[in-house]
Amino acid sequence: MPTRSEQLFTEARQHLVGGVNSAVRAFRSVGGTPVFFRRGEGAWLEDVDGRRYVDYVLSYGPLAVGHAHPEVVRAIQETAALGTSFGAPSELENVLARSVKGLMPSIERIRMVNSGTEACMSAVRLARGYTGRDRILKFQGNYHGHVDALLVQAGSGVLTLGIPGSPGVPAAVTETTVTAPYNDLEAVREVFREYGDELAAVLVEPVSGNMNCIPPVPGFLEGLRELCDASGALLVFDEVMTGFRVSLGGAQERFGVRPDLTCLGKVIGGGLPVGALGGRAEVMDHLAPTGPVYQAGTLSGNPLAMASGIATLDVLGREGAHAAAEAATRELVEGLRARAEAAGIPLSTHQAGTMFGLFFTETDPVTGFDDVAAADAERFRHFFHGMLEAGVYLAPSAFEAGFVSTAHDRVALDHTLEAAERVFAGLP
Ligand code: PLP
Repeated sequence: MPTRSEQLFTEARQHLVGGVNSAVRAFRSVGGTPVFFRRGEGAWLEDVDGRRYVDYVLSYGPLAVGHAHPEVVRAIQETAALGTSFGAPSELENVLARSVKGLMPSIERIRMVNSGTEACMSAVRLARGYTGRDRILKFQGNYHGHVDALLVQAGSGVLTLGIPGSPGVPAAVTETTVTAPYNDLEAVREVFREYGDELAAVLVEPVSGNMNCIPPVPGFLEGLRELCDASGALLVFDEVMTGFRVSLGGAQERFGVRPDLTCLGKVIGGGLPVGALGGRAEVMDHLAPTGPVYQAGTLSGNPLAMASGIATLDVLGREGAHAAAEAATRELVEGLRARAEAAGIPLSTHQAGTMFGLFFTETDPVTGFDDVAAADAERFRHFFHGMLEAGVYLAPSAFEAGFVSTAHDRVALDHTLEAAERVFAGLP
């Protein structure tokens, strides 16, 4: 008798391409049937067959205060009752902007959009419009959404599916995209020697979260800042994933490097579609209507999405909330590491705030794309399915980061570590 998830997936494949609306959800690299969920509460998910899982995917990052946090749900409900969209300014846009600016002082002006992809796409256009230059530098294994010009050696689903770029992206569009290995400042210096005065921007995930989770090596982000300053290129931090996670003020706060522009997404909408682009006023004011660089959006600044983001940042910003989630992440990662070691399984780990990475490899620490690519994919596959069976939901790809929320309490952590102990012991 097929499970309800299997039945729903069979039907989904009749309607949706590959049965999903975002490629990585299809379980392509781990095999098996994607789990269909009907409910989330705190750290837990419940599937359509009634099985419960501790969730470390958290919708790929946004749910920093867990599923269906009562204050977030109430804010959305109360806002919805007043109308779902105005296509005109509303006070909630000011409130969320103020909240973000308070946490990230590099942001003097902000433009709300509807996804991380839009934020990165607009950042590239703005950087080109502001500098009058065309070339951009991005890093191998970094993912900035499905923007044509940035689908070059990208991470996340592109990496999971093993496609280096994407058909449909004309070569002419990526001709001005230069790539370098993440965490390799010497390679970046080489790019600057060749193209320095043609570079509009360097885009970087300050902690790389789309080839699993890899923090910057000491000096890497500082080096990018110096090179950009010397050449006039803008430094763009893609904090779509790291924002409000690596620390409340993002990776820029944790590592003390100030970008010119910051892309945000995920947590800023608390589970509703919000992205944002922010930075120095002098640069941001080049956007329409104050400047000539065009950018717009029917649903940008949507009141429901703003209300969800405001409530999420409010809960997360409370005394000790983020620190407790960070401590839970540390306990999780250290606990997993100790249990893997006891079982004789080589496991390399990373933690950056409430993000974490697990790598089945002897390489420790993992610092770049080649290390991740060389990790044991087969062992990850067994680990993923073992944990799923034991009631722990991890991302169905060895190239995705893990996430912890303020709702991951003792019960959730103990459940996870007990499951991991059993699963590690049975790994081939
Ligand atoms: N930038 C980063 C660092 C991301 O991790 C993602 C999505 O995973 C994006 C951009 C794209 O965001 P979205 O999926 O909201 O378009």
